[in-house]
Amino acid sequence: MNAQPITEVAESRPLPSDSASVSRAVTPALELCGLSKTFTLGGGLFKRGRTLGAVSNVSLRIPRGQVMGLVGESGCGKSTLAKMLLGLTTPSDGDVLVDGRPVRGADQKALARHIQPIFQDPYSSLNPRKRIAQIVGLPLRVHGIGTPREQAAHVAETLDVVGLPRRAAEQFPGQLSGGQRQRVAIARALVMRPDIVICDEPTSALDVSVQAQILNLLLDLKAEFGLTYLFISHDLAVVEHLVDRVAVMYLGRIVEEGTREQIFGSPRHPYTRALLDSALTPEPGLGVPDIGLGDATPDPSDPPAGCAFHPRCPKAQATCRQQRPRLEDIRGDNARVACHLA
Ligand code: SF4
Repeated sequence: MNAQPITEVAESRPLPSDSASVSRAVTPALELCGLSKTFTLGGGLFKRGRTLGAVSNVSLRIPRGQVMGLVGESGCGKSTLAKMLLGLTTPSDGDVLVDGRPVRGADQKALARHIQPIFQDPYSSLNPRKRIAQIVGLPLRVHGIGTPREQAAHVAETLDVVGLPRRAAEQFPGQLSGGQRQRVAIARALVMRPDIVICDEPTSALDVSVQAQILNLLLDLKAEFGLTYLFISHDLAVVEHLVDRVAVMYLGRIVEEGTREQIFGSPRHPYTRALLDSALTPEPGLGVPDIGLGDATPDPSDPPAGCAFHPRCPKAQATCRQQRPRLEDIRGDNARVACHLA
């Protein structure tokens, strides 16, 4: 098999014509259209299982070069959503569009050139028996891009980009600090020069001081490579300085979405307000914040009727127990909220 030249890593996508360039400018880099994922729990030959709606009817648009924060408590469906975006889980309904093209049925290798993940735990996501050069260079080898010499040069260049010394190439993950390992994970994601990066809690396993360094690095890389990020976190404080827009997720549904200024300056959903209050605790970013609503998160396989948040909502009224509020742009300011009182 002939290796693809390394210079084509970034240019390996179809080149757009002039008219395609115009549509590329307006087409979101990533679009989620009514995305849902249900799982069936239990059940057997004569017994119907219970249906768990992990993600329900999520629609989001992320313009090219922007950062969308996706925030919610652990277990709200964020990671299931990330897996669907990466083609690792098939949606039960809806579509994911990358550059206007559906991911469903797309070739996984082709998809990997556009969209790459950075996961939470650099300790478990890196093979401890491989050297850093092998880990970072693996996508190039899988895709048959470049000669071994070119691959090694590209890996070295990518280590430079993420702020790792070149000698790290010969080391094993166990010889690096937590922050350095996360830089390796970022280098592995960027070695294919993707357009979109799904950052799934990329700093939550790190010390607070290291978190800031990694967040700054992600911002620098976004500017340098024109990346589009979906940044998933349980903690609003972590995403505040990174995002252009924020979507807040509760029990598989988006309950509020707007610009950073709208969400942080004038949140309208009681759940968003609770998350913001928790972000003001003395050590934001440490573990799962106490959102001050108790730990009675409803069972996703048996969600409450009406507004799923009503058992925990300090403002719940009778209507809230009966009618699920629609996610709507009520004020016409391009912000959406799902609350009867908004
Ligand atoms: Fe609270 Fe009712 Fe709004 Fe739900 S709809 S968030 S229960 S006020």
